[in-house]
Amino acid sequence: MQPEQLELFEITPDYRDHKKYREGIFKTKAQIKAELLELGRDRIYHVLSFGGGTQSAHLLEQHFQGLIHYDYIIFSDTGAEPQFIHEQVAWWQRRQQACGNTTPFIITHHSSMERGLEEMLMRYIHTDYQRFQMPVYCSTMDPVTGEIKAAGMMPRQCTVDFKIVPVKQAARRAVLELHGLGYRQQMPDNIGFIIDIGFSYDEIRRINTSQSPQFKYVRLAYPLVEQNETTAGSIRFLEDNRFPTRRSRCYLCPFNCDGARDIGMDWDEIIEAEPLSFLKACYFDQALRKVQRTGSKIMKSIPFLHYSRRPLDEVYAAEHERISAVHGAELNRWVSGWEAAIQKKWNPDELLIRA
Ligand code: SF4
Repeated sequence: MQPEQLELFEITPDYRDHKKYREGIFKTKAQIKAELLELGRDRIYHVLSFGGGTQSAHLLEQHFQGLIHYDYIIFSDTGAEPQFIHEQVAWWQRRQQACGNTTPFIITHHSSMERGLEEMLMRYIHTDYQRFQMPVYCSTMDPVTGEIKAAGMMPRQCTVDFKIVPVKQAARRAVLELHGLGYRQQMPDNIGFIIDIGFSYDEIRRINTSQSPQFKYVRLAYPLVEQNETTAGSIRFLEDNRFPTRRSRCYLCPFNCDGARDIGMDWDEIIEAEPLSFLKACYFDQALRKVQRTGSKIMKSIPFLHYSRRPLDEVYAAEHERISAVHGAELNRWVSGWEAAIQKKWNPDELLIRA
């Protein structure tokens, strides 16, 4: 979204005018709470899904100021956040202490792939694992003429699988434990959860439901939408208070774009702040096409991390060459370490490709 569009949203946002609200897709917290109470779930736990970036940090600060109640703050590590996001999470933990706030702050991850998206990608690249969860840009090749054409994107499933579901599981585990129950036991009928997600009003299109598809007693709420707060507004709030303002995302996220889009998520930032992570992204970008060419994957489109549907190391050729000269050996050690880890944990007959 262009800055002018963000400004437009800032002039007249009102969630009640939005069709997502009118059609009952977006519900207010009061509505969600009333629904849970009607179902007899009168012990409601309030959870913040903390992403370490800007909007959920805005909610976290509202919690520290006593404006929103949370029983748990939960950060799910996707395994591919830049180090500066981990530092930002640590900053907010220190702020919590400084505020004297004692809400449990849980750090969690994907339940079977503990090392997150890097593990998913390495497993996909090296074994016969077929579930691909990232929104990569695709091209297709005409089988007769060999012509390559831009196609769509793979669905974005990683946010749900590596961020939202682990938060729900961690909240569930914490509450069961609190009630003296084991993880495999049933949630008592009177317990419900409202998990707050930090989408802003300008992201209301991303809201599809308030009901968790995995757990009937878990509901999702979006307090910033209810506050008619925009992404730009949250960033301004953080800036005005001199809080950290880096946007949360994975270093290899295909939604990273070039500096032209002034939303604080771009490849330049990764190149500057974390050159080795940029090399890792180039490795994944290349390896995904390499494994796709083996014909062993259900995905038949040609995947790219960069929206231009060109190899990342070509889009940033000069930067790639410069960084490879400094960090190339480190990258090779990282790849070998991963190959050994995949062989040990996922036990393929042989690795599909080698670096
Ligand atoms: S930041 Fe990008 S890659 Fe990471 S979970 Fe979200 S959509 Fe997926």
